[in-house]
Amino acid sequence: MRRHWRILCFLMMLSLALVSLVGCGIPMEKSAVASHLTVKMLDVGQGDAILIRTSDETILIDTGDTDEAAKLKAALDKEGVKTIDKLIITHPHRDHLGGSAMVFQNYAVKAVYDNGQPTTPKFYRDYLKTIKVKNIPYKTLRDGDRLDFGGGVSFTILSPTEEMVQEGGREADGKINLNLNSLVGRLAYGNFAMMFTGDAEKPTEQALLKRHPAGDLRCQVLKAGHHGSKTSSGLAFLKAVQPEVALISCGAGNSYRHPHASVRRSYEKQRIDFYRTDVNGTITVESDGQTYRVTPERGVKNSNKGN
Ligand SMILES: [Zn+2]
Repeated sequence: MRRHWRILCFLMMLSLALVSLVGCGIPMEKSAVASHLTVKMLDVGQGDAILIRTSDETILIDTGDTDEAAKLKAALDKEGVKTIDKLIITHPHRDHLGGSAMVFQNYAVKAVYDNGQPTTPKFYRDYLKTIKVKNIPYKTLRDGDRLDFGGGVSFTILSPTEEMVQEGGREADGKINLNLNSLVGRLAYGNFAMMFTGDAEKPTEQALLKRHPAGDLRCQVLKAGHHGSKTSSGLAFLKAVQPEVALISCGAGNSYRHPHASVRRSYEKQRIDFYRTDVNGTITVESDGQTYRVTPERGVKNSNKGN
């Protein structure tokens, strides 16, 4: 009789253990699938186009150059994009805004955000006209604004301020430089964060550091400002953000010599791995909110090819 009890107890404990194992396993698997973030720095030559997908939304930051619109369309179609929930334009230069006409023509854009910095070229006037004609919700973003990308992913704007836009991106010598007012934003998803910089340059970085404590800027991944130009990625900014990886969007054999050798050296010195679209093609960052993974389309990290 006692032996039977022992067997019965053993079977009961075994079944409890099995139930708890199965009970733990299912929800973990579900949450890993439901909450996922993918950021793709698309290879669109000399320009920026970054596709972000959360479990709820598709977001496009910048649209590459007018001449590279076919490349952008091929990349978006390959990803199966039909709707863009949020189109964000960091600043109205052609290598960021030029592909917007193609985007409006081929995809359902639900909302547009930019820095509200006006400029004169036709592609910019056409862009504003299309937003109006298609009646697309449109909002300008400022330091402190926050967008919800869905799926637990947020995007906090760090620059520009209203005052900066009013000044129109003025350099110390009085020249206008639209790069200075690029939208800078920090994407956060659980323990993962990524800094988006557009073509922000060192004066933008320095002003941003004065307004925001370094603790609010830390990110594992940095989108290199201004295609890896020496105008950007200042040491103080790198030390505040403390990225482990930098992603550089630049065209093969570009005449600007991006990414600049001094920036690559600076990354190496700060132990920041880097990938570049001219060598690595489209670069994919994936995160589950805990860890992250960077996968280049081809090649390896830290290529010092060229320049
Ligand atoms: Zn640019």
